[in-house]
Amino acid sequence: MYRLLLVTALLIVLYFLLRQILRGIRQPHIDDRGASIDHDQMVLDHVCQTFVPRRTALTKEIGGQLHYFCSSACMTAFEKRQSTRPT
Ligand SMILES: [Zn+2]
Repeated sequence: MYRLLLVTALLIVLYFLLRQILRGIRQPHIDDRGASIDHDQMVLDHVCQTFVPRRTALTKEIGGQLHYFCSSACMTAFEKRQSTRPT
């Protein structure tokens, strides 16, 4: 009986260890919300049509969608465009 408990405990420990290892391989970067984000990916700034690394890009969530900007000036320009757009 104790042997079964021991084996179960070992399996649980092994499971958590494997999960940690797999997470370390697949998700090298984890953001504040715990979601995986590839910071080396290039994202498009739709205002000036420039590609910027996601790591340094400014982000703004509008309508549930995340937008990326190279600078606060582009972000402001985009926000102005959004507010003046007829809906
Ligand atoms: Zn820009």
